Amino acid sequence: MSLHQELIDRDRQVTFHASTHLRDFAHGDAPGRVISGGKGINIVDKDGREFIDGFAGLYCVNIGYGRTEVAEAIYRQALELSYYHTYVGHSNEPQIALSEKILELAGPGMSKVYYGMSGSDANETQLKIVRYYNNVLGRPQKKKVISRMRGYHGSGIASGSLTGLKAFHDHFDLPIETIRHTKAPYYYHRGADQEGMSEREFSKYCAQKLEEMILAEGPETVAAFIGEPVLGTGGIVPPPEGYWAEIQAVLAKYDVLLIADEVVCGFGRIGAEFGSHYYGIKPDLITVAKGLTSAYQPLSGVIVGDRVWKVLEQGTGEYGPIGHGWTYSGHALGCAAGLANLEIIAREGLTQNAAETGAYLQQQMQAAFGDHPIVGQVRGVGMLAALEFSASPAKREHFDPSLKVGPRIAIAALEENLIVRAMPQGDILGFAPPLVITRDEVDEVVARAKRAVDRVTDELVNSGDLTG
Ligand code: PLP
Repeated sequence: MSLHQELIDRDRQVTFHASTHLRDFAHGDAPGRVISGGKGINIVDKDGREFIDGFAGLYCVNIGYGRTEVAEAIYRQALELSYYHTYVGHSNEPQIALSEKILELAGPGMSKVYYGMSGSDANETQLKIVRYYNNVLGRPQKKKVISRMRGYHGSGIASGSLTGLKAFHDHFDLPIETIRHTKAPYYYHRGADQEGMSEREFSKYCAQKLEEMILAEGPETVAAFIGEPVLGTGGIVPPPEGYWAEIQAVLAKYDVLLIADEVVCGFGRIGAEFGSHYYGIKPDLITVAKGLTSAYQPLSGVIVGDRVWKVLEQGTGEYGPIGHGWTYSGHALGCAAGLANLEIIAREGLTQNAAETGAYLQQQMQAAFGDHPIVGQVRGVGMLAALEFSASPAKREHFDPSLKVGPRIAIAALEENLIVRAMPQGDILGFAPPLVITRDEVDEVVARAKRAVDRVTDELVNSGDLTG
């Protein structure tokens, strides 16, 4: 037995894996793989098989794999001080420098950074901030948070409730009481009664639905709205034209805070420092993680805007020190990794590359798949792209879910040594390569994806599941 197989077998005995069929994996009926190395946009498994990682881990390894500069920064920091808590005013140098850097990148209006370890815990912090804010302002009934169907904001009890995907709610008794979900800005799948709408009209319609929800709930009970600049895990869906301006007008009207979840878009992914900059979003609070360290260390952040910060200060003036904190907040190794990572992004112009090579990626995807018989839509922005498969592109019809077209194509891509992600809802294949990708590498990603899509198309034709 190979060492790789031996490791997988041991893993089956002892590990509880995320997003995995637990029984099949434990009993050897679902595949495993042990990843042992990575360089640039490539990763390698324990058998030495190399893959292009077309999804940058979980769209997080923005600077690519194997960057010794980051490893050395972590090592140097660990020799000096690996950890001390950041409660009651304690700090460390990397935390201070990283906060300065993040605030500089975020731009005017942002006041302070609070750190966590994951996007999920950062959104838990956001919900606590929102509650505290309204309690300080003497309106304890203003607590509900509106998220969007197909939004993704994490996997905890509160962050998982914000997530608008059924699989993250079912059997966990979620969402919790104070969370609501409004219409997804998913123009491609607009309803029959929105069929004739332009993108702009559809954006207005989404904002109108939000307003109706706020009015039905009672504006005095609605505290915040949370959204990703580009819907990510829900299908990689850039917003329709004018969407964020329409939404922000409604939020301002009812004094509802705006939380921009920049866990995916932040730090260059769509060709701007933040997705908020790209779409003209002016958030009160921002959630960051993933690209903050390119996953060289687990680190997330909540960026608090001036308006909210003033109230938090006022609250602690009245109630005493804030009752919130994680043991690992502001972890010195995480912050050292973050600084080294942001330094590489700036020095190598990776945000610019996400814009330029990203535009090339979008072009090549259109060229390869724009007229493909099973591709309903090719979409994306910067270094985020998706293919949405359809049984009948002209009618935007879904495939029968039992055909598992998306997952089959992801497996076919794996056979081409390309990792892309079958998104959890719908037959959608997601692309989010490291931002260091070159044009030649984009060509290779698209060529491998094309072979995979063509192969599954042939299978569907041969099995009689595709007749058009
Ligand atoms: N928010 C967004 C937009 C995400 O995409 C994710 C993860 O994919 C999260 C939050 C949750 O982050 P984590 O998995 O680090 O808890």
